[in-house]
Amino acid sequence: MLNRAWQPVNIVGVRRAITLLFQDHARVIFTDPEEGHKLMDAGEWIEYSQEHPAPERSIRTVRLALRVPSVLLLSVYDRIPRREVRFCRRNVYLRDGCCCQYCGRPFDEGELTLDHVVPRERGGKTNWENIVTACARCNAHKANRLPHQAGMVLRKVPARPKWRNFMSVMAEMEDASPWRPFLGMEAE
Ligand SMILES: [Zn+2]
Repeated sequence: MLNRAWQPVNIVGVRRAITLLFQDHARVIFTDPEEGHKLMDAGEWIEYSQEHPAPERSIRTVRLALRVPSVLLLSVYDRIPRREVRFCRRNVYLRDGCCCQYCGRPFDEGELTLDHVVPRERGGKTNWENIVTACARCNAHKANRLPHQAGMVLRKVPARPKWRNFMSVMAEMEDASPWRPFLGMEAE
């Protein structure tokens, strides 16, 4: 999401993005290689989705396939979301660079799991400070133990990611390329 000054202010899920678009609180910024940035409202985005189908980048409704927008411009000031990275599986993987925090190796998302550093049975919470990315093998080896009990060492202390760092991680990702033109304009 960009605010009205075209500065990145948040990352939201697909559902929230579509809701904002259809409530007319945001428009899609579509970057055309030749014509530059174009703004599209919900109606225009539906039309564009039908003219340029991309099944792997779409969500299906009963009547149509809607392309998932990458960058949205908020049209109202009072709807600026908080600049906080949402805690969810995908964002934990992103924070950890899709690398197992025990063996340090990179994996595809499908091969990764979330590990409670302090196991739930011992009161470990499900939050940024206690959840790390782990490969299936390390996760199984650690089981319900603390890392040192399993002879394992965390690559780094898990923490809530800072917004700025997180934006750079996003920019590194291939499918985040529509974001690149806007990252230099980020607000402090
Ligand atoms: Zn591992």
